Amino acid sequence: MRALSSVRSSKEALHSSLMSVFAELHIGIDDVDSPRGGCTTHFTYVFLRRLLSEILEARLIDYPNLVRLNPAIPFKTRGNGGVAVRLAVPKGLVSRVVDILHESLDYYIGELGGGGDAGALVVEAPAHEGLRRLYWKALTDYVHRDYLMTLLEKVGDLTHYVRGGRGLVGAAAAIGWYIPSDCTYELILYRNGERCVDKDAFMMAARGLTNALFSNWVDGKLLVMPHGPDPVLAGIRGEDPSALLAFTDPKIYCGSVSGWMIYRTNQGTNQHHIMRADALRPYQTGCFDGVVVSRPEIRKGGDVVIRVAWEGVTTYAAFFRETGLSGVARSLLIGDAVRVCGTAKYWERIGAVIHAETLIVWPRPAVTVRNPRCPRCGARMKSAGKRKGWKCPKCGYRSSELRREITLGKREPLLAGLHVPRDEAIKHLIKPRQRYGKEKVCVPSPPMTRWSDFTP
Ligand SMILES: [Zn+2]
Repeated sequence: MRALSSVRSSKEALHSSLMSVFAELHIGIDDVDSPRGGCTTHFTYVFLRRLLSEILEARLIDYPNLVRLNPAIPFKTRGNGGVAVRLAVPKGLVSRVVDILHESLDYYIGELGGGGDAGALVVEAPAHEGLRRLYWKALTDYVHRDYLMTLLEKVGDLTHYVRGGRGLVGAAAAIGWYIPSDCTYELILYRNGERCVDKDAFMMAARGLTNALFSNWVDGKLLVMPHGPDPVLAGIRGEDPSALLAFTDPKIYCGSVSGWMIYRTNQGTNQHHIMRADALRPYQTGCFDGVVVSRPEIRKGGDVVIRVAWEGVTTYAAFFRETGLSGVARSLLIGDAVRVCGTAKYWERIGAVIHAETLIVWPRPAVTVRNPRCPRCGARMKSAGKRKGWKCPKCGYRSSELRREITLGKREPLLAGLHVPRDEAIKHLIKPRQRYGKEKVCVPSPPMTRWSDFTP
């Protein structure tokens, strides 16, 4: 015990002496894209390559973070997410880092046009509780600009604003993802020219690594290439960074690779599925526990809407056909207990509806209550009048018995338990089937030796 604590205190002493010369910087960046291409992760790549070649004393204290935020926010056309870069640099060089970020943004946005929405800031206060709260809010709710500005005032003098566009929310929230939590990694490769992946070479590289990868292909079809004008060639998702190195081999890509970097991310973790006691409001994400109180309504196209209630709170949930969840929702009965998780949107004439991303069902027994059969001829008997028992319409048999026939019916055998969307319908934050049971607690820590193509 004593030995352990002395190791710890000497480590702490080393840390504090290092930190008296080094400053811990957290850089948040978001919305550095434009209709003409460019994207926040590519900007981060360009910026970090320059920063680390100019400031040789700079050390990353974590992989660059790609932090996905609330997917229900309407003005986001592509995946809502910001980037955080966490560095230790000599205190005298802090302003140089801020200048390099400034210059890099001017250059990058100048090349692409647009950039009016870009947000970027550098914070020297690492563990600020307010930024963590902002992360949770930007992940699960709508963040008003005033909320952000009030919060940033509290973070204080150690904040350097570099760009103040709408992206400032995502930029600051990405910094706030400085929490021990489940995480995954994504290798992002950038392109010169066409996007093209050699499927056979890709699947060859994936051999033996399948357990450490997720959401990269479905039914032999690769899902790694985006479709927009951005400079991303491919993004490969995995459980640990070392498994992703197999995909940095340029021979896998028929298109030419201009660079690559590995991000630590909250993708595939369901982190936006927080439990809520009240019905979700539009633009909120989360989960609601309750009992089904209406028969599933089957809509045009096969989508299913149910009403769920608990202790006077009622909410609606929609299950879309493309998620594969509508088939399960269709066989729900009034009285089934459910947990519905997803993002809430506003529907005309209904109000907030949870667009379901996962569903857990605790089915109630299916019970049928019927009049008994006639013991003489077997026909189904009729009531002989209130409290008067039964009479047989066929043979006239009468019985003063009040007992009814109650039978337990069969329910869909696969109804109980967890249901997740089909792999094709998995979006950034949603945990795909193959990740269940692989959750881990990640803590920010310096990247392994090779984490980008500009490391040795
Ligand atoms: Zn009868």
